Amino acid sequence: MSLMRDDREPPEENGDEPVFQKEGKDVRITEARCKSALSKSKLTGLEYALNPYKGCEHGCLYCYSPAVIHYEGKEPWGSFVEARVNMPVQLSHELRKQPMATVGVGTVTDPYQQPESWFRITRHCLEQLVLKQWPVCIHTKSKTVVDDIELLKQFKDIEVGFTFTTADDKERAAVEPRASSTRERLDALGKLKDAGIPTFVYFGPVLPGIITEGIEGLFKELKDLSIKRFSVDRLRMHKGVWESLRPFIEKKHPELVDEYRMILYGQSESYEHILLELADTARHQGLSVTLVEEP
Ligand code: SF4
Repeated sequence: MSLMRDDREPPEENGDEPVFQKEGKDVRITEARCKSALSKSKLTGLEYALNPYKGCEHGCLYCYSPAVIHYEGKEPWGSFVEARVNMPVQLSHELRKQPMATVGVGTVTDPYQQPESWFRITRHCLEQLVLKQWPVCIHTKSKTVVDDIELLKQFKDIEVGFTFTTADDKERAAVEPRASSTRERLDALGKLKDAGIPTFVYFGPVLPGIITEGIEGLFKELKDLSIKRFSVDRLRMHKGVWESLRPFIEKKHPELVDEYRMILYGQSESYEHILLELADTARHQGLSVTLVEEP
């Protein structure tokens, strides 16, 4: 198997499969081929979805991507990444046939997770999209999106969004263990702003117990970074989410176990209150806030 690599630390060969280690965890990488690059998106404002990687090594505890794609594989989510190496070529064919509309890049998995540093599939797809000036909306938790700033600047219609869940990087590291830190995301937003690239922030899912006192400071920084949109989203019930979150909540926030059960399996008035209060705090810092509706 050949891997396209650049100057960042490459994966190590381990038996037949290339594996890289991140935060003490092995992630197996394989090359895969896609039959189509663009799929129809149900997300507001996005007509197409483009996901260069299947699997995601960030390991967010609240991830519901496996449920979205009906993942039934045996390998735990977060332990493998399939790099769809033919996607740029496939995309170039589809761009000739499909009507132009906005493409959401990274609607299911992070398009700038670490293997992108070696494969550059997202970059090569963007190179195809910019040739025809298709509108693009990128969503990530990875600082490496700034590696493509010069390319992103060439789009007439583009925006780049980051997810945040907390101002406390210790909590962030617990719930999104292998994604970029809060500071790295803020720095990346700053570089995108300086490059004139419109940005947005998705704050969610809102996790009671990890929203800390520093949240006003985070919102103020986001306001100063001139983000275009700020949306707040609730924690939603999907297969596997509670199983993944539960050990963390039981260990770090045992007093909130019942609250989480209510949020996921029933209705929690106090959670509705937390959502509204959070939105008010963000508004108070000058952000223009939208509460995400049920898709
Ligand atoms: S970045 Fe997204 S897809 Fe990847 S683990 Fe986190 S929530 Fe799941």
